[in-house]
Amino acid sequence: MSNYDYIIVGAGSAGCVLANRLSANPDIRVCLLEAGGSNRSPLLHVPAGWAATFNNPSFDWGYNTDPEPELGDRQVYWPRGKALGGSSAINGMIYIRGVPMDFAAWEQAGAKGWSWEDVLPYYKKAERQQVHDDDLHGADGPLHVQEVRDKRPMDDVFLNAMNEAGIPSNADFNGVDQTGCGYYQFTQNNGRRWSTASAYLTPARSRSNLTILTHAHTQRVLFEGKRACGVEISRRGNRQVINGAHVILSGGAIASPQLLEVSGVGDGERLRSLGIDLIHHNPEVGEHLQDHLLCKVVYATNPENSINREVQGLRLIPSALRWFFLRQGPLTTGSAPVGAFCHTREGLEAPDVQIHFASGGTLYNNAGKIQAMKEPAVSAVVNQSRPESRGSIHVRHADMTEAPTIKANYLSAQLDRDTLLRGMRILLDIFDQSELQPFLNGRLSPALDVDLNNDEELMAYIRREAGTVYHPTSTCSIGKVVDENLRVTGVDGLSVIDASVMPYVVSGNTNAATIMLAEKGADQLLAARH
Ligand SMILES: Cc1cc2nc3c(=O)[nH]c(=O)nc-3n(C[C@H](O)[C@H](O)[C@H](O)COP(=O)(O)OP(=O)(O)OC[C@H]3O[C@@H](n4cnc5c(N)ncnc54)[C@H](O)[C@@H]3O)c2cc1C
Repeated sequence: MSNYDYIIVGAGSAGCVLANRLSANPDIRVCLLEAGGSNRSPLLHVPAGWAATFNNPSFDWGYNTDPEPELGDRQVYWPRGKALGGSSAINGMIYIRGVPMDFAAWEQAGAKGWSWEDVLPYYKKAERQQVHDDDLHGADGPLHVQEVRDKRPMDDVFLNAMNEAGIPSNADFNGVDQTGCGYYQFTQNNGRRWSTASAYLTPARSRSNLTILTHAHTQRVLFEGKRACGVEISRRGNRQVINGAHVILSGGAIASPQLLEVSGVGDGERLRSLGIDLIHHNPEVGEHLQDHLLCKVVYATNPENSINREVQGLRLIPSALRWFFLRQGPLTTGSAPVGAFCHTREGLEAPDVQIHFASGGTLYNNAGKIQAMKEPAVSAVVNQSRPESRGSIHVRHADMTEAPTIKANYLSAQLDRDTLLRGMRILLDIFDQSELQPFLNGRLSPALDVDLNNDEELMAYIRREAGTVYHPTSTCSIGKVVDENLRVTGVDGLSVIDASVMPYVVSGNTNAATIMLAEKGADQLLAARH
């Protein structure tokens, strides 16, 4: 096969950015490999379509964690996008960057050159902001960031209740201060999901120096000595070798450490025990996994206050027509339109919990389904922003045929248990405010027999119900597996650029930070050519 300058493995949030930025120079030959298929399906463009992608093997890898000790040995279902656009093609579309202290912590962990001042230009470079016009936002980037189109009366009622509970309004969570409550913004363009495939790949597709191969499942990185020289892929039943001067792994926080390990980069003892030839010993590969863990509160309401009936049965038809002809209505909403960032205790530099609210129930469920409940309901979830618990992802076999073991180790740190408990108390307090009472018909979850005044009972509820916010990161961290230029240490010609390199998960949803990382990573690679 032809010899490329860069082979990018994975066309997700990061991979599509890299493919665009690197191939913008016509002298650079780029090959983008995606295990999934194209992004033609309407499910990947209608914002609410994500619910139907879950556990659908055409679009979702459908992982599960190992039994989680602190969650009563429950396994937690982890969807991951599998198509052009990766997880940005199936995510909740919420656009949040994190806070400056996240990046100060990154620098302290060894990510020199990744301070807030260093990363802000790359957030702005990516962004095409619809409303906020100031030094913190970009207006000319490929990534449309737009207002919620289907604002509902219940969203405003919930915002009022948050004000009543003492949470101030915030018109821009990505402005000077994250604290407060308000509407989220979505990565959306006029009611259509704006994955990185739409933002970055579509404009670059016709470039003759960019090859995009879908259904190309990368099996391993090939090395000459310690230098990466290509990859082996499996495509429609055939094995193929693709040669390239530089291999970039952008498979995400699960697949990138998995690919490193099957290729011989990882803990020597672990790899040898599986029969994998060792290229470079680094026991940090696959370690330090982080994720955000959420817990929910659900209340019954009258049918007219809940989105539920508009997205199922025969009423789905007018909702679908509204989306198709007007790009309006409930299907323009990916996930939670409203949220908040709050402090659970005094003395914190930035909020330590995040809230998502939707005038529907249930957005989240652990069985691997997002399904509207039959009964009308409203729901909100809370998660800790900066968890201390750390897990790991490692291969079980010498090849890519089986999913790796995922140990999230949720709530293994005392701080995380305490913070989520306090976060749940903030959420329950919001539901107790007088603003909401005319609209609520009784609590559905936690069930009425849970004594909310009893910490142990509330904690037991969290252990039974908590689930992922879908934000795994840090399994190939800067300072541990890659250097500050995102090159894998100990070998040559190999980078990892995706959510796995974040030293810590950011304080918020992780798509924007992953795109920023790829923008900066592309610049670093291009700078190194001169
Ligand atoms: C259901 C869900 C909801 C979410 N909601 C939000 C949200 O509202 N806001 C937000 O900011 N973040 C959200 N996130 C998180 C965010 O989307 C991810 O953090 C981000 O997309 C990660 O980007 P990535 O490039 O690291 O990985 P991905 O985008 O997952 O990309 C990895 C790509 O690599 C491909 N791949 C994997 N293995 C191989 C292989 N061996 N060979 C070839 N290709 C391979 C995959 O198919 C995929 O396309 C959500 C995620 C999910 C799953």
